[in-house]
Amino acid sequence: MRKRNGSGEIELAAKIIDGRKLAAKLREAFALRVQALEASGACPPGLAVILVGEDAASAVYVRNKIRACEATGIKSVSHRLPSTVSNAELLGMIVELNADADVHGILVQLPLPAHIDVARVLETIAIEKDVDGFHLYNVGALVAGNTVFPPCTPYGVVKLLESEGVSVEGQNVVIVGASNIVGKPMALMLMARDATVAICHAKTRDLAQFTILADILVVAAGVPNLILPQMVKTGAIVIDVGINRLPDGTITGDVDFAGVAQKAAGITPVPGGVGPMTVTMLLENTIASAERASVRQRLVEARHD
Ligand code: NAP
Repeated sequence: MRKRNGSGEIELAAKIIDGRKLAAKLREAFALRVQALEASGACPPGLAVILVGEDAASAVYVRNKIRACEATGIKSVSHRLPSTVSNAELLGMIVELNADADVHGILVQLPLPAHIDVARVLETIAIEKDVDGFHLYNVGALVAGNTVFPPCTPYGVVKLLESEGVSVEGQNVVIVGASNIVGKPMALMLMARDATVAICHAKTRDLAQFTILADILVVAAGVPNLILPQMVKTGAIVIDVGINRLPDGTITGDVDFAGVAQKAAGITPVPGGVGPMTVTMLLENTIASAERASVRQRLVEARHD
């Protein structure tokens, strides 16, 4: 039975895991790191964002990233290219940005038009500027348990779990979604932290038989209401990565939030859960890149002294 409070409102069993609050706290600390870099005479962190075509959702994501950079002191430049851009032109732009000492991170907003060779684009980004963490080198490093730039969305999930004091060691983690940008790196990052991980996808038979075993359930499928309360173990931690726009314009995740919040111990809302953390971890990776560049620069200068 659902508990009601004195006003007759249904009380949630779950703690709401607030991504906005954690993101704001982390960004305050990032701004100090940027100030420290500048005070040391180093180049301020710079992020170049390449947006190809007119996809409305991508334009919103890019705008949010640029705003977040500005608020933290990161210098960001967005490069808009038409959807007709050739592979050679796009690769040429990346090569130029690779050589630009003011740019510490290069992000090519996905998805790209069908004629663009996405794998080639991602592999052209210099490894030390691959702040999205999608270059094959970074993916390989993740497999070996030693990331250069952890991919932003799963990294944000790890930070959320840490901030809630949720230890993943020995826990049954079920991940719904097996994409290269969320599900697979999420699995690798949690395996590196000694979780027992199962990955489900669209061809998984009887999804509920897996999800019900999860101490920690991470859902990144892009299907509204995929996860219903009867599929969730009582007391589980539920992280909803999904972002779905419903016909009435509202944004929702993949989890039946109201229902699952009656059963789970903790749950992320959509919006306001994983989304703000993804952008925040992009800022972190860009600042880390600038800090590494500054160390490299100092080593070069010391050699010439
Ligand atoms: P994607 O590339 O489309 O991958 C979706 C994954 O979910 C695939 O592995 C797919 O299985 C699986 N899947 C689809 N329907 C399923 C079902 N009915 N049952 C079980 N698994 C199912 O998507 P993505 O880029 O990973 O993104 C997933 C969701 O997260 C989207 O809503 C996206 O908008 C959101 N997202 C949010 C953030 C954030 O910052 N919050 C960041 C990135 C993505 P197959 O592999 O078998 O096709």
